[in-house]
Amino acid sequence: MPSQLSSEAQKDLHKFMAGLIERNPHEPEFHQAVQEVAESIIPFTLAHPVYRDAQILERMTEPDRIVIFRVTWEDDEGNVRVNRAWRVQFNNSIGPYKGGLRFDKSLTLSVLKFLGFEQVFKNSLTTLPMGGGKGGSNFNPKGKSDREVMRFCQAMMTEMYRHIGPETDVPAGDIGVGSREISFLYGQYKRLMNRFHSTITGKGLSYGGSLMRTEATGYGCAYFLKNMLEHRGDGVEGKTALVSGSGNVAIYAIEKLNELGARCVTASDRNGLLYDPNGIQDEKLAFLKDLKEVRRGSLAEYAEKFGCEFHAGKRPWSVPGQLAVPCATQNELSGDDARTLVKNGALAVAEGANMPTELEGVHVFREARTMFAPGKAANAGGVAVSGLEQSQNAQRLSWSREEVDQRLQKIMGDIHEQCVTHGEAKDGNVRYVAGANVAGFLKVADAMLAFGVI
Ligand code: NDP
Repeated sequence: MPSQLSSEAQKDLHKFMAGLIERNPHEPEFHQAVQEVAESIIPFTLAHPVYRDAQILERMTEPDRIVIFRVTWEDDEGNVRVNRAWRVQFNNSIGPYKGGLRFDKSLTLSVLKFLGFEQVFKNSLTTLPMGGGKGGSNFNPKGKSDREVMRFCQAMMTEMYRHIGPETDVPAGDIGVGSREISFLYGQYKRLMNRFHSTITGKGLSYGGSLMRTEATGYGCAYFLKNMLEHRGDGVEGKTALVSGSGNVAIYAIEKLNELGARCVTASDRNGLLYDPNGIQDEKLAFLKDLKEVRRGSLAEYAEKFGCEFHAGKRPWSVPGQLAVPCATQNELSGDDARTLVKNGALAVAEGANMPTELEGVHVFREARTMFAPGKAANAGGVAVSGLEQSQNAQRLSWSREEVDQRLQKIMGDIHEQCVTHGEAKDGNVRYVAGANVAGFLKVADAMLAFGVI
């Protein structure tokens, strides 16, 4: 229990979390995401009882609905395969549900509820009219042929199309769902509906996609980090950055951090840690993109080709560096990892992934006054450009790369500003977690108050 809370807030938090855990048993990731938010929101609602009286936090932690369905498809050998899929429609108070689809063999409803819950706050922070949702399947795309992935996506969309639409719910990509999967899903949606409209984002450029969507999450995270450091009178240039992951978010975070003058010395995947003390840049970054985006190979290959270190089963957090940018998956940075980072002089942490830091780690960074930006603020650039993709589709226009990039930078700057407004302490220390939670909460909560008791 965080020590900085008043005893009244601690009591309320304890009671609230006990009820939530009882109503949602065996969902540890969902409990964790809610606890992180409740630690900021419960003290806020004690000071602003209008939200407490209307039970806004209780309502916001109960999804509007969850659709669970079977996906049956046939593999290349003619075997019948069965997977489970979900769409969690969490909250549409400020716009249609919006959030990615994840394909991962260990996916659970708990993970999707945590992601959908976080998405509500994140989408609110973008300043765009988007509600929050998330979905996916326990389908494992690893090792599947393109045709198998296509048949799975078509089978999944054959059920999901009933529940989504441009004014209802607009899915996008996430772990395991990149441009290949989005294209198969959208192709089937278009076939079933006989409509070409903006029901999925992350589409290819020739059929309604936006320039910069691929880069948006990673670039946005780097822009956020730049804002954090500049707010303290510092900058990214010359800093050593530790990045985890080597997928969409990690690759473009590395690319933009390089451009801003940092040296990114790590990347990781499910097999282990790549450590390249000279920096992942130029032809090495091009190799990494091809390895991960096209050939879907292992980082060990990079280490072998460029003569650097690969450590099986390890993560980047014991490597010395000033910036930490976790971009792989949830709970990949523990309390002990956070203590190691603090000991090694880390100045700032920006979460490219969703909830990569365990709650204990969040508390360690807060106690150490290490600048710490939660994913709902730092990685909102992806969904923001998805929102811009919808705007372009509605206008039947395509904006230039420069225009999208300028809007992305402006949105990340606005999110930073909101965190400062709601999270800056009297001594100038910005508590980004509290700032992001309160700012994200307020917009949704005010809409819910206006709608009455629904
Ligand atoms: P990708 O599938 O493109 O890449 C994921 C990366 O993380 C891969 O390098 C993968 O390794 C690694 N990874 C996945 N699961 C694990 C695990 N259990 N342990 C260790 N490493 C793992 O996904 P994204 O880059 O799109 O997403 C990464 C994170 O960013 C997720 O938390 C996602 O929710 C979040 N995010 C993504 C957005 C987007 O626009 N794509 C937007 C906002 C947040 P391997 O290569 O071996 O598979």
